[in-house]
Amino acid sequence: MNPLRKTDPDVARILRGEAKRQQDGLEMIASENYVSQAVFEALGSVLSNKYAEGYPGKRYYGGQEWTDAIESLAIDRAKALFGAEHANVQPHSGAAANLAAYMAVLNPGDTVLGMDLSHGGHLTHGASVTLPAKIYRFAHYKTEADGSIDYAKLERLANKEKPKLMLAGFSSYTRTIDYERFAAIARKAGAVPMMDMAHIAGLVAGRALLSPVPFFDIVTATTHKTLRGPRGGLILSTEAFADRIDKAVFPGTQGGPHMHTIAAKAVAFGEAATPGFRTYAKRILSNAKALEKEFRARGVVPVFGGTDNHMLLIDTVASYGISGRTAQDLLDGIGISVNKNVVPDDPRGPSDPSGIRLGVPAATTRGMRAPEMRRIAGWIDEVLRSGGDTSVAARAKREVKASCREFPIA
Ligand SMILES: *Cc1c(COP(=O)(O)O)cnc(C)c1O
Repeated sequence: MNPLRKTDPDVARILRGEAKRQQDGLEMIASENYVSQAVFEALGSVLSNKYAEGYPGKRYYGGQEWTDAIESLAIDRAKALFGAEHANVQPHSGAAANLAAYMAVLNPGDTVLGMDLSHGGHLTHGASVTLPAKIYRFAHYKTEADGSIDYAKLERLANKEKPKLMLAGFSSYTRTIDYERFAAIARKAGAVPMMDMAHIAGLVAGRALLSPVPFFDIVTATTHKTLRGPRGGLILSTEAFADRIDKAVFPGTQGGPHMHTIAAKAVAFGEAATPGFRTYAKRILSNAKALEKEFRARGVVPVFGGTDNHMLLIDTVASYGISGRTAQDLLDGIGISVNKNVVPDDPRGPSDPSGIRLGVPAATTRGMRAPEMRRIAGWIDEVLRSGGDTSVAARAKREVKASCREFPIA
């Protein structure tokens, strides 16, 4: 076999550049992580060559002995890992999982009640620019000034909007949702309760956070965020929704499943079931707390009043007098990747919002712990406070790189 660096040096050079960027930079984007060698091997496997429309035992093409075996294994592992009655491992991404879940429950024009985007919800929860928002009617609930959810208010809203589906789940909300109460409100209002645990699936798998699975009829997830698997989606459901979910994924919204990705999902589910992964999930929570503590010591109070999960939202306008985009650029300059993010009812637009989101899953995978979290908060705080002082940035940049060398990506 001819290696890539011989057959296509241009692509090989770009891949080397990205590998070096990942190795030498500090990844604080809350949705990113590093997969294991085993996950990479499954992704780069012969299953990339195979078409397998349908489901195990019910395919449209021949030659499915091994594709059936790998998808059945992935399904069984997902069900066992999350204690779910049904699992569909085919969604190409979190957005695709949500689209299929909507199709399984809703008719065009039906109402969905989800979390407001600026309060932590995701684009796929009804942002006007998305396809679901053109098919269904979305209404949104918000968080309170102290970062909590007012469930009495949520219940009144549900009774007024009469949703068919009520969506818990978030991309930048950092507190705990009362699953039992949320699902009870949904059922009472005549809605199907659904949880989008895209961000926290790994924390749930690792038993660091309460599982939403017993409370919700449908739970969607990504496999590449805290779950530390390949880029992809996952839908868990009760048996009652199994058939509708499967039909909505294929043929409803997707064609052939990506069997190499499904193999890598099986590997990731296997890894997530180990004691080592439970330790990892716990460390994510303690690292996020350590990061929060150091910011507080420096006088910076995170949005929502703190964190119960793997991320922190910082209002950079309020804390440093600079926009989220300026903060992101300053941190890029010292080798720390973050994403600019809206804060609740952000008066600024999404392209230059008021805050940044910080997440610890990737740094935790590198082996970083509380002492490193304190240093990270220190670099971020000093650089954002410095008003672009180049000597502050140069020193932070050196220290970030040295720290990354000390904690190589396995
Ligand atoms: C990341 C995310 C998604 C989308 O996942 P993709 O794989 O990027 O499509 C959906 N919902 C939530 C809550 C997310 O955080």
